[in-house]
Amino acid sequence: MIIMDKLTKYELGFFPTPLHELENLAAAFEDTYRIFIKRDDHTGLATGGNKTRKLEYLLGDALAKKADTIITAGAQQSNHCRQTAAACAKAGLGCHLLLGGDPPEHVTGNLLLSKMMKAHIHYTGDRRKGEDLDNLADQLRKNGQNAYVIPYGGSNLTGAMGYVEAAGELKDQLSGQGLHIDHVFFASSSGGMQAGLLLGMALHGLDTQLMPIRIDKTEMQGMTLQEVVKRLVNEGNAGLKLPVPVDTDTIHTIDGYEEAGYGVLTEEEKAGILTLAGSEGILLDPVYTGRAFHGMLDHLQHARIAPGSNVLFWHTGGIPANFYYASLLS
Ligand SMILES: *Cc1c(COP(=O)(O)O)cnc(C)c1O
Repeated sequence: MIIMDKLTKYELGFFPTPLHELENLAAAFEDTYRIFIKRDDHTGLATGGNKTRKLEYLLGDALAKKADTIITAGAQQSNHCRQTAAACAKAGLGCHLLLGGDPPEHVTGNLLLSKMMKAHIHYTGDRRKGEDLDNLADQLRKNGQNAYVIPYGGSNLTGAMGYVEAAGELKDQLSGQGLHIDHVFFASSSGGMQAGLLLGMALHGLDTQLMPIRIDKTEMQGMTLQEVVKRLVNEGNAGLKLPVPVDTDTIHTIDGYEEAGYGVLTEEEKAGILTLAGSEGILLDPVYTGRAFHGMLDHLQHARIAPGSNVLFWHTGGIPANFYYASLLS
């Protein structure tokens, strides 16, 4: 690593993830656009997803600090928590997950997988955004454990380093295929991926326009998603040796698609999920990628992207949640 050389990485995933074209989908738009997909649903760690990249850096840091237990938080169908449970199983670390709400009647989807990988589950009722992380860490430390706290969504600068690196991976793939991508659509929620990509684009000289579809309308510790991304990018501007710092005034999120609320599957999102499944044999998820994909289709359908553009959908995983939403998808 040329930057942040104090960070060590613990390898967990399969990289580079595939990048390929969606010709059947493009045909549905009469080939007005070329449409590509980056398959971070194939990163590894118990069905893949974007948290693998973050966890390589987070667990690297935890292991360097001789942690024996990881604590993190999320929703009951959190992909981040499921992937953390998988990473801990592989690294031989204990894993505590703080999940919002009350114990469910049926354990399925991501929650089932986390339990299968031996995570200790704590249900935290209305405290849904990891408010109790530090309390649990103190409690475990009193019992002699060396607990390492991973924030909600794995979105601090250490986790975001996974996407700083991913921007370089994409750049190499595009140069290798002689391709230029004009717009990159993806689901943005706790901000780590977006911040990492922005910093990584500056570091690696990747020239493309990010189209971050906002997923969750609730704020995180009183901050909007845009503010969270700005804060992380400011930290990165200060801590990474970038040729040119990222201009934080240009940071934006695409808002409006989150109106139905987090985890609520709309009819349009369901239609988008079934379109990709039926035309390309690729599965999205009902919370993140289904929403972001619908956002991309909406932009293409209404020609909000210039005809002739090359667009890329960055698939961020989430497959197990389909089973939790089975009755809405069948
Ligand atoms: C966590 C997650 C995201 C959002 O990534 P952030 O870094 O939290 O913005 C997108 N898609 C899926 C499937 C996720 O699990």
